[in-house]
Formats: sequence, structure tokens, C-alpha cells
Amino acid sequence: MARRLALVTGGSRGIGRAIALALGKNGCDVAVNYNASAEAAEALCGELSALGVRASAFGADVSDRFQVEALFKAVEAGMGPVEILVNNAGITRDNLLMRMKCEDWDAVLAANLNSAFYCTKEAIRGMAKARWGRIVSIASVVGLIGNAGQANYSASKAGLIGFSRSVAREYAARGVTVNVVAPGFIGTDMTGVLKEQVREAILGQIPLGRMGSPEDVARAVAFFASEESSYVTGQVLAVDGGMTMC
Ligand code: NAP
Repeated sequence: MARRLALVTGGSRGIGRAIALALGKNGCDVAVNYNASAEAAEALCGELSALGVRASAFGADVSDRFQVEALFKAVEAGMGPVEILVNNAGITRDNLLMRMKCEDWDAVLAANLNSAFYCTKEAIRGMAKARWGRIVSIASVVGLIGNAGQANYSASKAGLIGFSRSVAREYAARGVTVNVVAPGFIGTDMTGVLKEQVREAILGQIPLGRMGSPEDVARAVAFFASEESSYVTGQVLAVDGGMTMC
């Protein structure tokens, strides 16, 4: 991979962390965005620097458009224009529809979907001008098939897919590809909170018989972020051990 600058939102932990490392190993400079986990983000930048690439941590709540504007200004001033954007930051606030509070709906849509709109809008101008860009958003298989107790989360992830395909059509002629990775059941803090019974039930639905690792997802993202995927845009790749096969 040519020396490109990647911004990974929510890069401090879990899947985002693995994505930042995979891109760094492929020779990209990496801007690591975090919200609360400043220490983890700084430690990750240390690991990335040891790989011989530039890496800096940038605090910003990406659900807030003003913080996103400031984030892009800071990244551009400190490291240069973003050439690869990975919309990874995400949260869950699970509940059955009847018990779901409006605040939980709003928080999940803001963190998972509005954030991608804000970041993509900030990144796209420079990519279009350079006639090269890669945008990869992390959705979820529940954005494809739904999940009881996750109406807000599923809607945000389905929204990411429609959003990405629209932007892919708008910017294809400018050399910008826009793709989506839809992970299944991946071992991170997000799934660490699930009860044993729930974990067993999910595992029973995975043909490959195991949870995925953050690195499984990161390898798919690295492909979409690379030169090798230049003829691929508007696609959704499920990294789910065969859970959905649709
Ligand atoms: P995680 O371990 O809970 O990590 C979430 C990351 O997102 C953290 O780095 C966190 O940063 C960041 N984040 C959350 N809200 C943010 C905000 N408003 N602004 C900036 N950063 C924010 O989750 P994960 O499992 O790695 O999930 C990463 C992505 O994959 C999410 O979009 C998630 O929906 C998706 N996904 C995960 C799974 C799975 O099974 N784990 C499956 C499908 C899809 P701080 O700690 O700094 O706040």
C-alpha cells in the first residue's frame, strides 16, 4: 500500500484498534480517534510508531458535528488530508421496542450513523480533489437481518449501508470507493457484556462455530482500504463466520 493517511474513528479499543494496527502494518500513517479512552489511544499510537509509520491520537465525540469539524481540522493540520476514512465508532443501547427510550434511539443513531455522515462529509472534498479515496464503514449483520432488542442499532447499521451505497454512486467517478464491512459476533468489550446463555445461542447460529476476532474484521477493512480493491465499490462484506449468507 502507498503511504496513505488513514483516520479510524473509535480506534482506541476493539475492532477499531485492530483496524488501526492492520493499516499501520500495511504502511499507512494512522490518525486514531477516541472519545473516552485517551490512554489506550496513546498506547496504540506508540505501537503504531514502532512499526515505522506516523500515528497520533485525536479526542473527539464523533456524534457531535462540531467536534467532527474540529477533529478534521486537527488531523489535517497535524498529519495532512485524510485519504482513508474508517467509520468504526459505535455503541449499543439495547432494549425491546416497547421499553426503548427515545434517548437510547437518538444516542445510537447519533454515534453510529450521524457520525459517518459528519466524517464522510468532512473527508470527501479532499478525496474528490485528489481523485483517490477510500471510505469503509463498519455496519453489522443485524443491519441486514435485524435483531430483537436492537431496533435502534439495526436501523443505524442498515442506514450506514444505504448511506454508503449512495455516496459510492456519487463519488465513483472521482476515484473514491465506499464500502461496508458487516461483522457478525466479534470478541470485544461490546460483546463481552452478553450473558453466557445469549453467547451460546449466538454461537449456535455460526456455521464456522466460533466468534470472530477483531483481526478477522480488520483484514477485510484493509482490503477495502487498499489499491487492490480499486474496482470494488458500494459493497457490503459480511465477516460473520457464515451467519447470514445473504
Ligand atoms: P467497543 O469495543 O465497544 O469499542 C467501541 C469503540 O468506539 C471505542 O474505541 C470507543 O471509543 C468508540 N466510540 C464509541 N462512541 C464514540 C464516539 N461518540 N466518538 C468517538 N468514538 C466512539 O466496540 P467494537 O466491538 O470494537 O465495535 C466497533 C464497531 O464494530 C462498532 O461500530 C460496532 O457497532 C461494530 N460491530 C461490532 C460487533 C461485535 O460483535 N463486537 C459486531 C458488529 C458490528 P472510547 O472508548 O474512546 O469512547
